[in-house]
Amino acid sequence: MKIYNTLSKSKEEFVPIEPGKVRMYVCGPTVYNYIHIGNARPMIVFDTVRRYFEYKGYEVNYVSNFTDVDDKIIKKANEEGVSTEEISERYIEECKKDMASMNIKPATYNPKATEEIEGMVAMIENLIEKGYAYEKNGTVYFSTRKFEGYGKLSKKNLDDLEAGSRVAVADEKNDPMDFVLWKPKKEGEPSWPSPWSDGRPGWHIECSEMSKKYLGDQIDIHAGGEDLVFPHHENEIAQSEAANGKEFSKYWMHNAFLNIDNKKMSKSEGNFFTVREIGEKFDLQVLRFFMLSSHYRSPLNFSKDLMDAAKSGLDRIKTAAYHLEQLEALAEERELNEQEKQVLADAESLTNKFNAAMEDDFNTADAISAIFEIVKLSNTNATKDSAKELIQILLKKIVVLCDILGVEVKHVEELLDEEIERLIEERQAARKNRDFARADEIRDELLEKGIILEDSREGVRWKRA
Ligand code: AMP
Ligand code: ZN
Repeated sequence: MKIYNTLSKSKEEFVPIEPGKVRMYVCGPTVYNYIHIGNARPMIVFDTVRRYFEYKGYEVNYVSNFTDVDDKIIKKANEEGVSTEEISERYIEECKKDMASMNIKPATYNPKATEEIEGMVAMIENLIEKGYAYEKNGTVYFSTRKFEGYGKLSKKNLDDLEAGSRVAVADEKNDPMDFVLWKPKKEGEPSWPSPWSDGRPGWHIECSEMSKKYLGDQIDIHAGGEDLVFPHHENEIAQSEAANGKEFSKYWMHNAFLNIDNKKMSKSEGNFFTVREIGEKFDLQVLRFFMLSSHYRSPLNFSKDLMDAAKSGLDRIKTAAYHLEQLEALAEERELNEQEKQVLADAESLTNKFNAAMEDDFNTADAISAIFEIVKLSNTNATKDSAKELIQILLKKIVVLCDILGVEVKHVEELLDEEIERLIEERQAARKNRDFARADEIRDELLEKGIILEDSREGVRWKRA
């Protein structure tokens, strides 16, 4: 299996650190608003990467953080006159609902930055001890020049960066390219104690620490959008490798950007959509299918017409699956005839084509073409006179391959209302007993099945995603 590694700028054979296991970390969103459709791209792409590894039998430990302390969150909290926690908790919940509607599997761990401050302080202390960081007036900086490999991911060179930097050198940093690990609080900002000042961590140290805590010093895959290559991921490498003395991530994967009507998505230009807005017009499975119709390293253009085209493509697959379900009830139990054996051999080679596309740096565009070919094969060959085995195998193939892409094409059995009510009651009881872990587990379990809970003053309301 080949993965394009930003570190080597080439496709490399995937060899896991530990056989049969994949440790992956995907930089998550900053939660100060509803997520936009650009944020959805890495979520969908890397969830698909995870699903393909799982289909191949790997055990995947998938960690994705929520950045829940940041200038934008503080600004929003001040605008609304509420705490930063209220803002971040609100949008984490909303983000999880959007993720469920896009059929994104819950991460193995979803750490929040504010719950991991102690570990970050310890990592910064370690960096100071090793001579990679220094403190000035309550702020701690990372000394980029001390870390030999600085620039290896983004292929940038410190001297060029410095020549191009417009930052006044007159600040307190030893070098303009040094970056912040810890900063003292300003009036009205949330803060945590540290040996240097009451303050908060820099953004980059978050991911270095959470990746270390949940996945260990070395991981297989670190991923995110291409805007994160520099400085975020470059700085993460510097921090983690300096602190741990080991190569941080073996493979670095980055998705290209999503544009709208061929322009950069921008709120001020008015070409900006949240996932929630798109969800009012389309089933979000269509958004997922649309995103996977292009290779993740190609820029992706979003438009209403392209979404309509994705919808009709997905409908074609769903119709074929529905048709097979109907035929399954009618088809007779008998041996396959020669022609049917040939159809299954063709379906098998199309499955191999799907796998080969995914093995080639997750080429979901070609993988989807292979599914369309199976659909065509099925539409022309499956009839009410076909052997049951033929119908069943074709249906299973379409369902399984679509499931790797996180797209559900079969009519899914829905949870009954009574079952949902029973789980909600159990969650309320767990909360009363302060068993919040169980309460969260039930909420996530329901979310996975497309049931969204809304806690309100009047009690708990629920709806289907
Ligand atoms: P942020 O909340 O801005 O830190 O972004 C969360 C994730 O979304 C990061 O991996 C970003 O690289 C990614 N991202 C943001 N905007 C876009 C976009 N227009 N297209 C693709 N990915 C994006
Ligand atoms: Zn990150």
